[in-house]
Amino acid sequence: MRAIILSIGDELTLGQTVDTNSAWLAKQLAGIGFRPAAHLTVPDDRDAIRQAFEESVGRCDALVVSGGLGPTEDDLTRQALADFLNQPLELAPAALENVERFFRALRREMPEKNRIQAMLPRGAEMIENTAGTAPGIYCNYLSGDQKTVCEIFIMPGVPKEMKIMFERSVRPKLAGGEPGRVGPGSAGVILSKTLHTFGLGESAVAERLGELMRRDRNPSVGTTVANGYVSLRLNAYFPTPAEAERQMAETASACRAALGDLIWGEDEQTLPEVVGRLLAGARETVTTAESCTGGLLAKLITDVPGSSAYFKQGWVTYANDAKTALLGVSPVTLQREGAVSEAVVAEMAAGALERSGADSALAISGVAGPDGGTTEKPVGTVCLALVARRDAAGGSTRTFIFHGDREMVRDRSAKMALTMLRFHLLGKPLPF
Ligand code: AMP
Ligand code: MG
Repeated sequence: MRAIILSIGDELTLGQTVDTNSAWLAKQLAGIGFRPAAHLTVPDDRDAIRQAFEESVGRCDALVVSGGLGPTEDDLTRQALADFLNQPLELAPAALENVERFFRALRREMPEKNRIQAMLPRGAEMIENTAGTAPGIYCNYLSGDQKTVCEIFIMPGVPKEMKIMFERSVRPKLAGGEPGRVGPGSAGVILSKTLHTFGLGESAVAERLGELMRRDRNPSVGTTVANGYVSLRLNAYFPTPAEAERQMAETASACRAALGDLIWGEDEQTLPEVVGRLLAGARETVTTAESCTGGLLAKLITDVPGSSAYFKQGWVTYANDAKTALLGVSPVTLQREGAVSEAVVAEMAAGALERSGADSALAISGVAGPDGGTTEKPVGTVCLALVARRDAAGGSTRTFIFHGDREMVRDRSAKMALTMLRFHLLGKPLPF
């Protein structure tokens, strides 16, 4: 089954309001087996809306629309639907009762303008609105030659009202039963899962996944990149939820087999949260000594509620003097190796470990840019150190060259430090 999601409003096409309805609706529809075939956005323009109806009905089984049902001159969705259906707008008593009830509950007189909200194209049905004034509209479109059948649902644009209406009336109708149940009206269920990695580029991840990424595979596996993380998006499309779940679990473990511990988490999990859980599980604490990241690493660690269990303090030592005064970094090392060097971050981490009494210490020093790069240490060069109390080897240091602007270099540095700590806590070497 295919769906098209149509959003209507000048504020959307002008970019003043971000269209969050489409994203939300796409997820809901996928969950009941309707593959979103397109997202369309048109302004509050009668012809543009009518044309969107015309072009969509032949391409989908369900056209799910939001916006333009308000009582004012600029909301034209119902008029455009009437144009498209070639039917007159008529007052629908049930819809009028819905609008009047809303005003009665507020103990207010219904303004005459709101009567338009009770008008429906002949043959269409009202969808009850329990959260606002605008009833929705439903019609089952059938072309003259009966070749095109498409169910059209129109809901208000206000996200809260739209969501309530979708849950109460649209989803049950499309799924053919209770909310969340897959019924005769749908051809199956789409389950989605996301697995997150950090450290390898997108193509390197894809290479390891190999055949799993074949376009015709079900469940499908695709990759996306956001904020330095390469994530795998798994979509399973099957007739029953049980089958979709079984297949999803199988594909997820195949991905885990291909990428191993490069996968740090799933869906809504965050990297700092995952590292925090490992620290808490090991009953260990960590401290930080940062230069170019200016406290970002400590910020990420303390973004997690409950992080006080494993983080007591950290240092931001931006100037050489501060590295010496606060962490005991030797002026000789600074002079000889430069502030961005594995020797300096090793001393920063050792100093922080000793002064904090933590079980491990992370240190970062790098060239975040845009200035300060040299041929030997170009912008993006970042040295990281991890020193652990229980590590007889005395810790590890690494140098990376991160790509991107200042913000990206700082962000990737902090995430790489967390990744080094994660592998340390797993008792494994960094896999890159
Ligand atoms: P309307 O139903 O056109 O009267 O929409 C009412 C309000 O809902 C608009 O002013 C927007 O702020 C908001 N809105 C409409 N469509 C969307 C959408 N697709 N995503 C997010 N907000 C929306
Ligand atoms: Mg509008």
